[in-house]
Amino acid sequence: MSTLTKGKNAKASNSNGKALSTPRTDPIVGEVGLPEDPNNLYTETVSTMLRAAEIMNLPRYLRLILAQPKNEIMVHFPVQMDDGEFKLFKGYRVQHNNALGPYKGGLRFHHDVHLDDVKSLAFLMTMKCSLVGVPYGGGKGGIKVNPRDHSSAEMERIVRRFTAAIAHNIGPDYDIPAPDVGSNSQHMAWIADTFSFLSEIGGDNPAAVITGKPVSYGGSLGREKATGQGVVDTLVEMLPELKLKPEKCNFSVLGFGNVGSWSAKIFQEKGAKLTAAADHTGFIINEKGIDADDLAEFVKAKGGVGGYPKATKCSKDDFYKHKVDVFIPAALEQMIQEPEAKMITCKVMAEGANAPTTPAGERILIDKGIEVLPAILCNAGGVTVSYFEWVQNKTFQAWDLEKVDKALNKHMVQAATKTRAARGKYKCDLRTAAYIAALQRLTEAYEVRGIFP
Ligand code: GLU
Repeated sequence: MSTLTKGKNAKASNSNGKALSTPRTDPIVGEVGLPEDPNNLYTETVSTMLRAAEIMNLPRYLRLILAQPKNEIMVHFPVQMDDGEFKLFKGYRVQHNNALGPYKGGLRFHHDVHLDDVKSLAFLMTMKCSLVGVPYGGGKGGIKVNPRDHSSAEMERIVRRFTAAIAHNIGPDYDIPAPDVGSNSQHMAWIADTFSFLSEIGGDNPAAVITGKPVSYGGSLGREKATGQGVVDTLVEMLPELKLKPEKCNFSVLGFGNVGSWSAKIFQEKGAKLTAAADHTGFIINEKGIDADDLAEFVKAKGGVGGYPKATKCSKDDFYKHKVDVFIPAALEQMIQEPEAKMITCKVMAEGANAPTTPAGERILIDKGIEVLPAILCNAGGVTVSYFEWVQNKTFQAWDLEKVDKALNKHMVQAATKTRAARGKYKCDLRTAAYIAALQRLTEAYEVRGIFP
């Protein structure tokens, strides 16, 4: 195993070994009409890809194709509330790329969902699916809604009506959504059920139109914990290079929803000690250790980590300054900006969330010698087990958990190995290396497919 390049020494270079300075905005950004604002999430994510593309000399036509999604679908639909009044909702489905297979990616239910966020997340799915070796392209969608503001009956009507609005744009062989922030297996069940009634193109098993369903309705064992499992599989694979052992690590988690809580519970099973956690309800620390299972139960009952009685409430700054071996951001994108990065004192940051770190934040982390395990590698466990669920639906099988976990680990280790190989070849940081490895597979597909006509 190669020694991990410490961030400080990792300099991007092109294939001739020449060091590259990071262009603020690549000319392609203007050419395809992206906002020039470098803080725009879509411009930010595409610019990171373009930097990797430059280093590996990716053909120009591919840079252009990948810089914009294939389709951007936006819908508005009315839904009756429990009090009899109607509300109009906005929904999205962005289909970024399908060169490797059907579009694939989650549906976010959040009050702050915007087109550019959905585009970024769809783009990241293209990269993630390519890197982790599943036969999918990338997509993402969502509804601008805060699920906490609605009764279960209202959410059911919202979700079913949204499904009807996009039913002709999704399908088991075309575009397969899944859960994301704010959505869960019950929502997926309503989507599968609605689609089964509406569609004549669902094939033998229309429920394969969506993954992350409840196990009782075509879901896979291990899907609920899959993203957290993938985060820990990646850590277990990468930590030895940093001379760290899970059982000797303490760690903190930002965001204690599905990804954060499962990452914490599974990392704890490996012997690691959770010492701090945070979410929209507060920041908590306990140097002696917080039982991740107990905290997850508390969060389920109370809605957040705030007020957890077996830890001390602390400030945001104290949370970020709290010294840990591993920090897992598992909340929303762009949360680790320059001020947070300056405070963070960890050895490894494992990105459970999508795009949690801004490029400016990442530069600070890298300068401090912190190893950043990028999201397209670290959180690819969710979509990988989604793929297993889809395979089980298509073939009318039900795998046991052991088979799911083993197959997931194989994909995660292979993706980590490809990322390490790209880092060794191009002498770059891990995020750039992960992009390069993802772009390599896409390049091979485009080379044999060609561009129609
Ligand atoms: N929303 C998850 C992600 O960002 C899972 C996507 C899927 O399973 O298709 O990776």
